[in-house]
Amino acid sequence: MIRFERVTKRYQDGTTAIKSIDLEINEGEFFVIIGPSGCGKTTLLKMMNRLIELSDGTIFVYGKKISDYDIHELRWNMGYVLQQIALFPHMTIEENIAIVPELKKWSNEKIRQRTDKLLEMVGLPPEKYRGRKPKELSGGEQQRVGVIRALASDPGIMLMDEPFSALDPISREKLQDDILEVQRKINKTIVFVTHDMQEAIKLGDRICLMKDGEIVQVGTPKEIVESP
Ligand code: ADP
Ligand code: ADP
Repeated sequence: MIRFERVTKRYQDGTTAIKSIDLEINEGEFFVIIGPSGCGKTTLLKMMNRLIELSDGTIFVYGKKISDYDIHELRWNMGYVLQQIALFPHMTIEENIAIVPELKKWSNEKIRQRTDKLLEMVGLPPEKYRGRKPKELSGGEQQRVGVIRALASDPGIMLMDEPFSALDPISREKLQDDILEVQRKINKTIVFVTHDMQEAIKLGDRICLMKDGEIVQVGTPKEIVESP
């Protein structure tokens, strides 16, 4: 589904952030990338949707080189969630979700159905939340809106870069449970970056351990925990 072949990233200042990585991520898998700050997790993630260009090697998505995709097509196939969700402050929650390009062609009725369903999925009653402005939501609730906005165009793949790390422990746990449920229900491929081993073990079907731009180990949580 996503395949890296000898992928290298050198930044202009000479930093080699990714060193000839081979990696395969399976369809429907919850794949967690973990490692200390600066080991290359964000670089690896951002190369998948071409926010960062590769220096060397190839990435395939659904068997096709990412360089052969129309960039918009590639990104529609990949929802992207960041640590700090930026919602548009002057728009309602519903408008913030419907901003996804794919939805622009839809009728108002269809957009409402879709946004309501997504809001329900993460425990935000639509009649209460759809008309609110972002500042009327807690940080955890805003983050939840960010997650469902990334799901709105129904991408096959979700890229998530420390999406919960700015949250308080209770919101964080709730969102971890939500995303697990979402993944089970709609069977997305999720690539999830974290530096928190607890989170990786809780969420991951497989965990990829990185260090200094290289992959140290890939395995199930059990294999990772039990390895010396
Ligand atoms: P992580 O997400 O694991 O914290 P990053 O992928 O952000 O790691 O960074 C990997 C390495 O690349 C770090 O040494 C970082 O300083 C460096 N780096 C990241 N972005 C750039 C950039 N735009 N220019 C130069 N070096 C960068
Ligand atoms: P993260 O918290 O996602 O690991 P960082 O805090 O490492 O990200 O970096 C934040 C931003 O700064 C990123 O967009 C990254 O590309 C850029 N950056 C990181 N390290 C460097 C660097 N050494 N030189 C230039 N830009 C960098």
